Amino acid sequence: MSPTHAQSPIPNPQSPVIGVFGSGQLGRMLALAAHPLGIRVHTFSPERDTPTGQVAAREICAAYDDRDAVRAFVRGVDAVTFEFENVPAHVAEIAAEEGKPVRPGGHVLHVAQNRLREKGFFADTGLPVTPFAPVHSLADLEKGLSAIGAPAVLKTAAFGYDGKGQVKIDDPSQAEDAWLEMNSQPAILEAFVPFEREVSVVAARGIDGGFAAFPLVENRHANHILDVTLAPAQVSPEVAAEAEQLTRRLMEALDVVGVLCVEFFLLPEVRLLSKVELLNPEGRLLINEIAPRPHNSGHWTIEGAVTSQFEQQARAVCGLPLGSAAQIRPAVMVNLLGDLWTQGQPNWEALLAYPTAKLHLYGKSAARPGRKMGHVTVTATTIDEALEIALAARKSLVGQ
Ligand code: AMP
Repeated sequence: MSPTHAQSPIPNPQSPVIGVFGSGQLGRMLALAAHPLGIRVHTFSPERDTPTGQVAAREICAAYDDRDAVRAFVRGVDAVTFEFENVPAHVAEIAAEEGKPVRPGGHVLHVAQNRLREKGFFADTGLPVTPFAPVHSLADLEKGLSAIGAPAVLKTAAFGYDGKGQVKIDDPSQAEDAWLEMNSQPAILEAFVPFEREVSVVAARGIDGGFAAFPLVENRHANHILDVTLAPAQVSPEVAAEAEQLTRRLMEALDVVGVLCVEFFLLPEVRLLSKVELLNPEGRLLINEIAPRPHNSGHWTIEGAVTSQFEQQARAVCGLPLGSAAQIRPAVMVNLLGDLWTQGQPNWEALLAYPTAKLHLYGKSAARPGRKMGHVTVTATTIDEALEIALAARKSLVGQ
């Protein structure tokens, strides 16, 4: 697929409308950030009264497979984007047929939708990536395990997120059980990386090739779901520079116009194991995966940076100049998952009694365990102070 974004701003720059496919919290925060710039957001998804729809100028409820509905929606907007990557390819194709800029282009979605294509792209581009092998059968898995060794991680190639569709293999004898868990779906086998920490960069790229990266952040997970982001990551300037440079190379190679997040594994500094040294002899980072859109690890930018990741997305998608990605203050973001609703409504008054805790709720009515319902960001003089306040504020939601 060829890039589908035209190298020009949108045709109607006075009062642009962004059409976003998907209707979750990322679209909601895009719509909220776009509003002050005079940019409206229309949303398209199979659901009603969605997090995005509640704040968008227009909410269209139709199936992604309904090509007529997709075409009608696209005709009513000036530029098209996505707030999740698993949108069928024909959506971007229809938008391009209608002459609407698609940012990032369908070619970026195509790569990001499948872990094999994604990791193959990193390897072909010379970007440091976890050793991996394609798996389409038990025989492939056994072959992959003898090449990569155990421990390793087997993941479905498509439609996986937050650790879903993944199984760790500690010993080659577990191969058959692991393959059964894949349900005959194409999979990828990856070396298990003994990382020190997980870190990520969110960056934006404009139609003119302009590039602006937010600082590298550290992500802490609980049950494979992002729990806490610390911005900036407490790493050496060399590691921060390596991350930014890899992100830039990746976005240029993919010709991304829009916002993209790169998730990295930070390798231990002391390479006692030769195996770790071999993973990346030149640096300390391995790319785990990308998300071609704003990311949960960039939510802190709403309060903590000069321009938020959502405003950057609005600017990039409309072909406008990017804003400054400089950080204003150390920031910590904590997620609010549905688990906090187990005993009924969380105690919002208790949380809001923390004057620096900034609450973001996504407008989801059903709270299920593991579901992202909202987040809280705290900015402070130091990361430690921000972390302490953010954790205490979240804890207060279910205290007493
Ligand atoms: P993913 O869906 O690929 O981001 O994986 C979810 C989480 O599983 C990551 O954030 C890591 O904590 C862990 N993980 C995934 N792949 C690997 C790997 N190859 N080695 C070690 N940990 C991994």
